[in-house]
Amino acid sequence: MAEAEIAKKSKKERLKEYLKDWTPYRFQRYYTFIAVTVFSLIIPWIKINGAHFFLLNFDNKQIHMFFTKFDMQELYMMPFLLIFGFLGVFFLTTLAGRIWCGWLCPQTIFRIIYRDLLETKLLGIRRSIQNKQPEPKGQFGKKSVAFIIWSILSFIAAANFVWFFVPPEDFFQYIQNPSEHGVMMGTIITLALFLIYDVVKLKEDFCIYVCPYARVQSVMYDEETIQTIYNTHRGGHIYDHDQQTKLANTQKELLATDDSSECTYCDACVRVCPTHIDIKAGTQLECINCLECADACTEVMGALGKESLITWTSYSAVEEERKPKFLRFRTIAYGVALVLSLLGLFWMGSTKEYMLLNINRTTQLYKIKDEGQRVTNAYTFLFQNTENEDHKYYFEIVGHDDIKIERPAKAFKLRAGTKSKKVVVLSTTQVLSKDTKKDTPIPITIKAYAIEDKVKITVQRNTTFVYPRYDILQEHQK
Ligand code: SF4
Ligand code: SF4
Repeated sequence: MAEAEIAKKSKKERLKEYLKDWTPYRFQRYYTFIAVTVFSLIIPWIKINGAHFFLLNFDNKQIHMFFTKFDMQELYMMPFLLIFGFLGVFFLTTLAGRIWCGWLCPQTIFRIIYRDLLETKLLGIRRSIQNKQPEPKGQFGKKSVAFIIWSILSFIAAANFVWFFVPPEDFFQYIQNPSEHGVMMGTIITLALFLIYDVVKLKEDFCIYVCPYARVQSVMYDEETIQTIYNTHRGGHIYDHDQQTKLANTQKELLATDDSSECTYCDACVRVCPTHIDIKAGTQLECINCLECADACTEVMGALGKESLITWTSYSAVEEERKPKFLRFRTIAYGVALVLSLLGLFWMGSTKEYMLLNINRTTQLYKIKDEGQRVTNAYTFLFQNTENEDHKYYFEIVGHDDIKIERPAKAFKLRAGTKSKKVVVLSTTQVLSKDTKKDTPIPITIKAYAIEDKVKITVQRNTTFVYPRYDILQEHQK
């Protein structure tokens, strides 16, 4: 549109026209916050086949992941889970900088609820969400109301966190006897008190001084990492390279150094910043990638019929005036490693055993009985029913018709989630070896199963049946 034509329209009209298809990042983030909050509140309540989406249950020594239960003994999955978690953080940070901080982190969500929703929109303690700089003075009554509402929400958030360790079905029983569940109650109270202090007093200082992710994320950046960036080529150089020295303090001074500088020096981007920084000085540790400054500048520049000077892009993209590159060696490498670790996780998950069995031999190698006609070996089998239902268990010896089960003579019942030790005696009346120099260990495979579902609830374990020296056996037969 010609400059003269733009100038004829009112600021509001120009803004409306220019931004007709624009959804501020702020709203996009609010939708994401609602989705994250609803997900966190609802997911602990959802169970499929008795298993939660994620639960680290110390009471029952179980981990639930993706609606599958794992016993603590099945912790072989953990390395894959940790690798997946770390790679996920590396991948996300290299690709999109601190997207976690601005879009998903509970700290950011809590601060938006407290500062923008409670203090500004509901109670009017702050004048506008467009200006987060001045700390409101006085208004003790309204501040107390905000504090009380936030305290209640903190206890709900703390309880929600605990539901990933104590499932809601147990939580609401335990909470009726708080004295018997001191650890759970202590965790909720400590966490809630911390959330109150953090959100009301510490504020964004948590992101700047406490959060370790803020410290390490910059080493994962490269020139193509997406960040909140002020375009100095269009806006003009307001700060020197060291980000400390201000080169221009007014628009006039800015235009004096370069008359093509587009920044209006309105400082809307500074007023809206929750961490109180000026993005025009370049990337800073304090920037949580909330993009509020990009929204502010979009409105200011939009009224002039121009694009925002602050965008979510990469440094290389700004320098070369192009779109950011998402596919590059680092992101592809992290992406591949992420997929591999996910496949590893699924593979480990698919080899999950629905019962557990440990086999230990007793100290006595064998017994010779019936005047050398029968040899027995004794074992201790530790069975564990890791399922939610009671089952009857038994076992067989695979591929060895010459070895029989003497004890236990029949299947036995194990209640859901319980263990049982069984003394097992195997015997043979056949000649399995004629070695007269040493005992012969014969490898055998035990297949144990639940009678109700032999296909799914089954495990195989290898052990040995020790057959005595043949000359010793013959002595017993004389
Ligand atoms: S500079 Fe401030 S407003 Fe802009 S993205 Fe960073 S934290 Fe948010
Ligand atoms: S909002 Fe845009 S125009 Fe205003 S000071 Fe910030 S960068 Fe410059």
